[in-house]
Amino acid sequence: MEVLRSLDEARRRAGAVKDAGRRIGLVPTMGYLHEGHLSLMRLLRPRCHDLWVSIFVNPAQFGPAEDLDRYPRDLERDLALCEAEGVDAVLHPQPAEVYPPDHDTWVEPGRVAGLYCGASRPGHFRGVLSIVQRLFAWSRCNLAAFGAKDAQQLWLIQRMVRDLELPVEIVEGPVVREPDGLALSSRNVFLSPAERTAAGVLNRALARATQRLEEGAPPREALETALEAIRAQPQLELEYLHVADWATLASLAGWPADASLPVALPAEGERVVLLACRAGRTRLIDNRRAVVAPR
Ligand code: AMP
Repeated sequence: MEVLRSLDEARRRAGAVKDAGRRIGLVPTMGYLHEGHLSLMRLLRPRCHDLWVSIFVNPAQFGPAEDLDRYPRDLERDLALCEAEGVDAVLHPQPAEVYPPDHDTWVEPGRVAGLYCGASRPGHFRGVLSIVQRLFAWSRCNLAAFGAKDAQQLWLIQRMVRDLELPVEIVEGPVVREPDGLALSSRNVFLSPAERTAAGVLNRALARATQRLEEGAPPREALETALEAIRAQPQLELEYLHVADWATLASLAGWPADASLPVALPAEGERVVLLACRAGRTRLIDNRRAVVAPR
């Protein structure tokens, strides 16, 4: 396994692999790897010749009051995990090289980037799309894997690939969860034991809401028990909870009530129930999708 610490090393390897007619697969991460990340590597391993993982805590997607400095890091452990998954190259560039002082060009996402997580994290998805587009350019990957855990991010990346006609196939990996249903996240290490226990309610609330949707309940009703269950946990402070149309990400119902987009919504199709909450200083997000059949 090669560790690529400069962009020139990355460009050289990508050129050699592509010139040999071989396919590159990329798993972009911010490191502190867990089973969610490893599951994405396992998805791509059989589908490419050269499997890359990028480990880069991207300053451009953190707000000034966010946890960039305390984001967990353990490069040695991450490299060992990548090696064990049969990764061929780890791209670990330095922030100073990625963002030289005169760096001044960004990928500007559309209105969906201002909803849900984007409402409380202005500029977050602009930072995400901009680094993802550049990771694609450096690695020249044919495929890239992203987790359904970050549903809005996945949606916006798929839209960017379509709108900018980037020659990359996006592969979606399912959410990997703890036995009690909590979605794995690098930030879970910050949860106190009481917060960790309370966080188990999130997936149960989402599962209840998606079940109600699939039974035919109107979106507002489908959210009722989920809202109650989360609000009953004093350790959790809900930031948003919405049912959205997966095709457009427009809200069908939710809290707070200002996440709507002016589009006509189909009565059937795929829905996503999305939430974010705070447990102490830790921000948690999760989601589940539901298919609503025609009636
Ligand atoms: P991160 O390191 O948090 O930026 O995540 C890197 C990639 O791993 C993203 O595509 C995430 O959606 C994905 N990911 C993170 N947590 C999970 C999880 N619990 N299950 C599946 N994918 C995940």
